[in-house]
Amino acid sequence: MATEHRIALIPGDGIGTEVLPPATAVLDKVGARHGITFRYDDFDWCCERYLHEGAMMPANGLDQIRHHDAILLGAVGWPGVPDHVSLWGLLIPIRRQFDQYVNLRPIKVMPGVPSPVRSAEPGLEFVVVRENVEGEYSEVGGRFHRGFADEMAVQESIFTRPGVTRILDYAFELAATRRNVVTSATKSNGIVHTMPFWDELVAEAGLRHPDVRWHQEHIDALVAKVVLDPSRFDVIVGSNLFGDILSDLAAAVAGSIGIAPAGNLNPSREFPSMFEPVHGSAPDIAGKGVANPLGAIWSAAMMLDHLGHPDAGAEVVAAMVDVLGNTPVRTADLGGTASTEEFTKTLLDRI
Ligand code: ATP
Ligand code: MG
Repeated sequence: MATEHRIALIPGDGIGTEVLPPATAVLDKVGARHGITFRYDDFDWCCERYLHEGAMMPANGLDQIRHHDAILLGAVGWPGVPDHVSLWGLLIPIRRQFDQYVNLRPIKVMPGVPSPVRSAEPGLEFVVVRENVEGEYSEVGGRFHRGFADEMAVQESIFTRPGVTRILDYAFELAATRRNVVTSATKSNGIVHTMPFWDELVAEAGLRHPDVRWHQEHIDALVAKVVLDPSRFDVIVGSNLFGDILSDLAAAVAGSIGIAPAGNLNPSREFPSMFEPVHGSAPDIAGKGVANPLGAIWSAAMMLDHLGHPDAGAEVVAAMVDVLGNTPVRTADLGGTASTEEFTKTLLDRI
């Protein structure tokens, strides 16, 4: 039976516009093999739009994409436009209004992509699950002045029982489909209200998922262990701040920013989820046709999983491993000479 999915494309800025066409080409090719068709709608929400019209997206932007099955985003951000504009004018509203409370970052060391970590062998994989809508990144707080010389800043963290419980359940359920191990990032020896609460809810989640082993590590020790011995991890779950730090660290362990993918998931499927490469708009190489499209392509594979086509998603990842492991074809960031287009063609031939 043929399935059709409606996808909102937001190419964004810089190389974002160069890596999405390869991703949709891969989706179309693998889709054809599995009886899946994609209907794409393009949205030119980017920094250039901000410079002309004063907003990254129209006032009713979210309404325009809320009935799509998923969102594929390239990258947003450009020199001269402050980071908070692209973040608060586009990414954060999408994440929050569509309740994309899971940020999922799969890490996999690919053949032919050397990791800076000696013990990270090709095939090593784990996943970071980050709480994406509450926690330390709240707007609650302020700056307070008392005269000119005295000043104070207060930043509150928000941890709710339902918010923490749902991200933990997501992590435990994911672990149950993998190697059955959850590592929780904490810091309850220094952060004495929110983190002990997080730890208690982890223990409760452990009781609900008796087949999954879990342990907790203080974030400072945990980051050291991710670098020294990444093979011991399966699913690492963290609050918004700890998950943010861990997911960038983990992408670095995998060796290249150009291949790392991310999903911002609304697991209830009430709203669309958003998939995006981890890298930014890379102004230094934008317009040259040399960007590595693998981050966007892998993000598209995650989208296939989310839309209920894990076999198709796995085929895309297998083709990535095949090209990197069995051919010398790669883009400049991985030491090759292939253009984005040449690399994409080689990959398409192997699907
Ligand atoms: P942002 O602030 O949006 O995260 P950034 O400038 O901090 O952006 P990137 O845009 O990701 O970070 O770029 C960091 C470096 O990695 C740049 O030198 C860029 O050229 C390189 N880079 C990033 N993504 C890719 C890619 N897909 N292919 C090749 N090189 C890349
Ligand atoms: Mg940056």
